[in-house]
Formats: sequence, C-alpha cells, structure tokens
Amino acid sequence: MEITSDILHDKLKKFFGFDSFKGNQEAVIKALVEGNDVFVLMPTGGGKSLCYQLPALCMEGTAIVISPLIALMKNQVDAIMGFAHNQEGIAHFLNSSLNKTQTAEVKKDLLSGVTKLLYVAPESLTKEENIQLLKQIKISFYAIDEAHCISEWGHDFRPEYRRIRSIIAEIGKAPIIALTATATPKVQSDIQRNLDMLDAKVFKSSFNRPNLYYEIRGKNNPKKDIIKFIKENPGKSGIIYCLSRKKVEEIAELLNINGIKALPYHAGMDAATRGRNQDAFLAEEVDVIVATIAFGMGIDKPDVRFVIHYNIPKSLEGYYQETGRAGRDGQEGRCIAFYRHKDIQRLEKFMQGKPVSEQEIGRQLLMETVSYAESNQCRRKVLLNYFGEDYPECNCGNCDNCLYPQKQFNGREEICTVIELVLSLKESFKAEYLSNILCGVSNSLIKSYHHHHNEFFGIGKSKSPRFWNAVIRQALILHFLDKDIERYGLISVTQLGRDFLNAPYDVMLTEDREFEEGEDDDSDSPMNAKHPAGLSGAGDAALVPMLKSLRQEVAKKQRIPSWVVFSDPSIEDMAILYPTTLDELKKCQGVGEGKARKFGQPFVELIARYVEENDISRPDDFIVRTVASKVTNKVFIIQSIDRRMPFEDIARARDMELCELIEDIESIVNSGTRLNIDYYIKQTIDEDKIDDIFTYFKEEAQSDSVTDAMKELGRDYEEEEVRLVRIKFLSELGN
Ligand code: ADP
Ligand code: MG
Ligand code: ZN
Repeated sequence: MEITSDILHDKLKKFFGFDSFKGNQEAVIKALVEGNDVFVLMPTGGGKSLCYQLPALCMEGTAIVISPLIALMKNQVDAIMGFAHNQEGIAHFLNSSLNKTQTAEVKKDLLSGVTKLLYVAPESLTKEENIQLLKQIKISFYAIDEAHCISEWGHDFRPEYRRIRSIIAEIGKAPIIALTATATPKVQSDIQRNLDMLDAKVFKSSFNRPNLYYEIRGKNNPKKDIIKFIKENPGKSGIIYCLSRKKVEEIAELLNINGIKALPYHAGMDAATRGRNQDAFLAEEVDVIVATIAFGMGIDKPDVRFVIHYNIPKSLEGYYQETGRAGRDGQEGRCIAFYRHKDIQRLEKFMQGKPVSEQEIGRQLLMETVSYAESNQCRRKVLLNYFGEDYPECNCGNCDNCLYPQKQFNGREEICTVIELVLSLKESFKAEYLSNILCGVSNSLIKSYHHHHNEFFGIGKSKSPRFWNAVIRQALILHFLDKDIERYGLISVTQLGRDFLNAPYDVMLTEDREFEEGEDDDSDSPMNAKHPAGLSGAGDAALVPMLKSLRQEVAKKQRIPSWVVFSDPSIEDMAILYPTTLDELKKCQGVGEGKARKFGQPFVELIARYVEENDISRPDDFIVRTVASKVTNKVFIIQSIDRRMPFEDIARARDMELCELIEDIESIVNSGTRLNIDYYIKQTIDEDKIDDIFTYFKEEAQSDSVTDAMKELGRDYEEEEVRLVRIKFLSELGN
C-alpha cells in the first residue's frame, strides 16, 4: 500500500493531535517510507521523534528505535500509548529495567506483530538473546536517535553505539534513519561513515534558535548574579547547570534560603528522588532545577525561560544542547553562562589520565569553547559557524555582543599577515602555534622546527597571543582560513583568503574580551566563608563607624566588652544588608535570636534612620543569604551518621574528600548538633589512643585548638584521629 501525504496527515492528527508538520518532517518521513536511508540534523525541540514515530505507525512491521536513555524511552512510549486507540500503535521498550513478566509481555507482542515501535537501549541491543528475538520479526526500519553518541567528537560519546551497524547487519537489513541535534561537520561524517550510510538523504535544518538570547558573564559574583536574575524573573522556569554534585546541592539550598523554589538533580541521588524532583519541575511545583548535565535530555518542557551555566561547558555541542532546552516554544529563552579561566583549567585537569587521543580531542573542543566565550563577535554567528552554518546578519540583536557591541578595528593588515604566515608554513600548524610565532613566544615545539628563526617570528609582538588568536578565529569565520578538524585543527588558506591577499580590503574585527578572575568561591573551604558570597567588603563605609560607636555606647552602659555586643563581622553585615527590623537583623552573621532581642533595637533604629536620610535603596530583594553553617550536605550527613554509614561511603556519595567531610562534621557539631560517631571511631582508631586524646581535651586543653593538641600529644597521633576524637568530645560534653 502506498503511503500518501493524506495518510500521513491523517495519522499525524490521529496519533499526535497535530494539524501540520513542522520544518521538514514530512519530507524526512516520505524519504524513509520510500525505502531510503535518512540522516536528520535538527536542533533540539525541532521534532525529531515524530520523524520515526509516525512512519513506524504507518509502515508494515516493527520499527527498532535505538536511544540511549531509559527515562526518555519511557516518556515517549507513554506519550504514544496515550494517543493510541485500541491495539493500534503499540510501543514498547526493551531494557534492563523490565522484570521477567514485563519482558515476556513485550516478546509476545513483538512476535504476534502488534508492536509498531520498539525502543531499545544500545546495551540491550547487543545482547545475544535480543538479537535472536529480533531476527524473527519483520522490521520496518531502524531509527538511531541521538546518533552523535557514535562519534568521539560528539559531546556524549558511547562506545556501544559503535557496534550498532554490525548488529543491524546480523538482525536483518532495513532502512536506517539517524537523528541528532549535534551537527558539527566532523560528527556528521563520523555518523554517516560508522553507520555505513554515506548515500543517505540528508536533511539539515538551520540550527539557529532566534528566540534564544546568549550571554557570557564574568564569574565574579555568580551566586549573587543568579539570585538577582531569578528574582527579576519571578515565576519563570529555569535550569541551572553545575559541574559537580556538590555545587548542585549547594546552589539549590542557597536558592531556597533566598526564597526561590528550587530542587537539585544529579546522578548521585537515588532514582526515586531524582524522578520526583524532575516531576516537580515539570509540574511547576518548583521554578528552578539545579542540575548536572545529566538533566534534561529528552525532557520536553516547552516554557523553560532561562538556562544558566554556573560552569562553562566542556564543549560547544554541550553548550548548544543545554541552552537549547530554553524557549522550546519559540518564546523567551535566556541563556547565561558564567566564564572564567580557572574553570577551564579545572576541566583540563579532569582530562588528565584519559588516553592521549581523547585528551587531544577534549582539549580542542575546550579551546572552541574558550574562543566562543572570549569572543566579541555575535555569539549566534560564532555558534552557527561552529556547526558549519553561515549566519549572514551582522547583528543578531539577541546576544550580549550584539546588544553591547565592542569597539572594532580595521584588521586588513593583520589578516594579510596571518595568511602570509600560514602559507609560508605550508598550512601545517594550529592557531595557537601561529599566534605564538607572531608574538615571538618561543617554545620547544617552535624550536624543533627552527621557527624561532623564521622571518615572521615576533613581527606581531606589540600585540598579545590572544589578540592574534582573535584575528585567526575571525579569519576562519570570514572563510579566509579553514581549519582541518580531522587533523587536529591545522589551519589552511582558502581561495577567498588567497584572493584577499592579492587584493586586500577593509575588514572590521574585534579584540577579545578580558574576563576578570573573581574570587574562587568554588574552593568552599568553610574557613574562608567570612562573608556571604558576593557580599565581600566591609560594608557601607559611612555606616560602619556609626554602628561601631553605637556598639561602644551600648557596651559601656551594660559594662561589657564591646565585642560581646556584636562582633565586627556582624557590624559589617549590618552595613551591607541594612536590616531595619529585628527579624532582618537576625540574618546578619553571628546575630541570633538572643542577641537581636537583647541589643538589636537601637541598631535597627539607627539603620532605618540612615537608610531614610540617605535615600538608600536596600538591596534586600536580592541579598544573598548564605547557608547557615555553610555545610551544604548537612541533612544528608546527619542522617547517614544516624544510620552508621562508614565515613568513606558518605564522602563518596557526595563526591567529597574524607577531610572535607570531617570539616563539615566539625561545623555541624560546632553549631550545636550532637552526633554520635563512636561506631566509626572504634573501627578506625585504637582504643587507648581514643582515651588519651579524649582525656587531653577533657583535662589539659586550654582551648579546642587541634594544632595545640597535636603539639601536646606528640607524634604518635594523626591529625585525623585527633580531630575525630575532638568531635566526639565536643559532641558529648559541649552539646
Ligand atoms: P527533538 O527530539 O528534535 O528535540 P521532539 O521530538 O522531542 O524534539 O519534539 C519537540 C516538541 O515538538 C514536542 O513537544 C513535540 O510534541 C513537538 N512537535 C513535534 N512535531 C510537531 C508538529 N508537527 N506540530 C507541533 N508540534 C510538534
Ligand atoms: Mg529527541
Ligand atoms: Zn548576536
């Protein structure tokens, strides 16, 4: 039976409830039902799933859909089953999460031919019993979703994807449709080659997402920036991506403390909690989800209004994917990423220890991200160029660089210089190497080629390597130069570049942006948390002395030392937060209920007067309130210790070092919570030693200092032992 356009429209309405196709869905589907191999490159939210779901429902046999995510499969199956009437349009999934009965049911439906769509994880596809099963049924076609997983150059490489082709050959031939939202030319060719579908009909949509606003921010005050941003966008849904689980927990808690409904999501949480948090976000019970990159693949929330990257992603594909989750409905979608060089160094560190080739790939992907972040050019232009797409406009009007353009300079001479250099070096070096030559920066590689004697060496040294890097990058975007990704980014000159050199013309370029390095709030040492993040500095310089002299007055009257009234940090906080009620006063460090009641009144009165007289707009709407004890995993730690979990396991569950855990436990105990850690101490420390240390603290110690204790007790005691017993001591006698 021929599948006509009418039939397709009919089924589109019946199964999915849509009146028309989106983008080139119909063309894709037609090509597939006609028996072609098809390759679909479509951005996230473009509607890829329908490109295989609909033909599966129309064609004879079962379509095999290979997809990496169990959660995703379940969503899709549920969605189809929701629309399907009777037995028509049955979809199943096959993976390790099914129990025996469920698996048997799926097999029965498969063999009787009612299953139209079978979702399988690649791991399940490679299982011999499944191959044998699938050999027995008629297959309409194979769909390979998230096909970039095939390529090492994708952001999400999965080795088992490499075996798909050979398994398909074993099960039986049928057309293949591969789909991805990652479309760098390199990934694209990897996919086609690996799936042996070089003749496939390729459908590539534009990757431009005009409604997304792109911005890169220096990371000076990220937490304050984030809170301020969310407070200015009340009620909107958003995702915040962080690199580590610990950061996810910390930011989620920070947001809650600041009155923003947020939940964490990361792979270290149990599946049930994770599912609950995801559902709460989808159901809009919370506005914000703070997540590691594990979140969002395949979730379909059309009205995510912002995506914030607390850490810059390690590749532009990742960045594009994650920002792509904003504004899927075509409405507002703001994408803000925080950038600083330290984060790049951290990502580089993570790569060490991986195979060299993987490191090389990783570093190159990272460099692309750096270029993007530091560029002063239209973000959209750079991003699309990365995906092999030209963006013709000069000003997109919807990115930070276009809205706040930087000064330009005429780069005619500079581009000529670069082109000449590339030609003279026979087009066999990378951008970084070229800019080092121009600046006269010698290194062992340059010396090994004797290029420190080259005529170009140092001719551009009045400018920095980053200046020259920016020139090269823009010459690439302008197609004067070309970069060979297969050969690790070697730069060559295009015909256009040669023409330019023969008859140069004016070309306006921009220099790169400089990013200040903010304070490192990621080190998270509980000791340096003197001030809430983003509120460093000693507060309003005029107000502080006024508060201090008031403090002295009060102290005199009550005949106590002034630091007993309020400590300096408390005073400084008052001069930042401008509390005008006792409740607000309690939000300053070191000010508890008792102190606020006992001494607070004249202070808040003074501040209220001061605010009034000086017409100060109190920053209260986005003041960052920090986590009370600075212990982000407090509840988890207390519960785990109650359950007598070994410290090593607690630390591992939260991605911490043991010493970090001990620090956290110390702050928990210091803030007055009693913890019984005997079970752990008894296992790890000799009983006599425990007694010695305990007795020292009880009978000899002049303070609770660990250093003093170590000195007094001598070398037979490890610092860790002393600290653990001290925790026991403080917990038993102090709390
Ligand atoms: P992708 O996999 O490309 O990221 P999805 O397949 O998840 O995108 O589809 C994205 C959204 O677009 C979904 O909400 C889907 O229901 C919707 N969609 C797909 N096709 C159509 C269509 N023809 N008309 C309207 N909405 C569509
Ligand atoms: Mg998809
Ligand atoms: Zn722009």
